[in-house]
Amino acid sequence: MFMSALLHAPTLCCLFGSCPSPSSSKLKNRFLMASSVRIAVVGDVHDDWNLEEDTKALQLLRPDLVLFTGDFGNENVELVRSIADLKFAKAIILGNHDAWSTQQFAQRRKDRVQLQLECLGEEHVGYRRLDFPMLKLSIVGGRPFSCGGEQLFRKRLLAERYGVHDMNGSAKRIYEAAIGTPEDHLVILLAHNGPTGLGSNLNDICGKDWVFGGGDHGDPDLANAISHLKETTKFSIPLVVFGHMHKELAHGNGLRKMIVLGTDNTIYLNGAIVPRVKSLGDEQKTNNRSFMNNEIPVTIPEAEGTVRAFTLVEIVDGKLEKIAETWISVIGDKTTLEEENILFTTGPREIDAGI
Ligand SMILES: [Zn+2]
Repeated sequence: MFMSALLHAPTLCCLFGSCPSPSSSKLKNRFLMASSVRIAVVGDVHDDWNLEEDTKALQLLRPDLVLFTGDFGNENVELVRSIADLKFAKAIILGNHDAWSTQQFAQRRKDRVQLQLECLGEEHVGYRRLDFPMLKLSIVGGRPFSCGGEQLFRKRLLAERYGVHDMNGSAKRIYEAAIGTPEDHLVILLAHNGPTGLGSNLNDICGKDWVFGGGDHGDPDLANAISHLKETTKFSIPLVVFGHMHKELAHGNGLRKMIVLGTDNTIYLNGAIVPRVKSLGDEQKTNNRSFMNNEIPVTIPEAEGTVRAFTLVEIVDGKLEKIAETWISVIGDKTTLEEENILFTTGPREIDAGI
């Protein structure tokens, strides 16, 4: 599938619509006038991260900002350290798997939750806000370690580190993190799990897919914080990004809806494409095996490499213009856009119409 996509992949220029011909000064001027921000969302990692390979893929995508929805591994400190080493502007929230076995903070020596938080420093936005003045946007973090649903997960960690004891207290902390956002900034919320209120079918964006009949497994505190912010502030909140609820549903029940266009002018985006990395080499070997029966698989050097998932968000002049699930192949130093599944678009940009 990926190899055929490789052959037919359109160029990045056409897909992103952001590479006007340098010979056209009119287009060039219009391009410069548009203030555009590109965000790459890395959904739940679950051990699928390679700093070198993902850096190559991101160098092709050229995002202004990378958002991570957490669940890096089961308290995989080394991997989180490697995320911290990524040389792109970024914001991160830890998920329930990042506090997989730690129930409370260790006193004498640092536990693995503390070590992860230390690696990430200010870029971990749990109950915090990170301002990006050059991009005119602020990332506001939800509740760290969320596992979804009505109950707080890792209550002792939340109490010890953040002084949060219940859902209302948690909603208040998220709300307070947003207060003070510069007036001319967009607010983007980054949480491990999405808010309640987005549907209760098993394939809904936060729907329970592991029980018959589904149910809403969103975070009530995040939903409360968002609605309270909308009622009491003038912040523009165009996007809420989260993960936790994987795209592939349990028991082979198909795929989850990964985007909701809210009636409140907010787009809710689930980035949890899991697994986010597929091996081209393995795919090729598997194909060889099936074609050659019991013969030793032949590895074709060009076929080795990986395809890596990112969800790309394009914002132009303060408005969300396009969101796409994007797969990038990395074969040695060669990176290629393999697949682009558009989840949302406002239609062709003015700049494209002029070409
Ligand atoms: Zn999770």
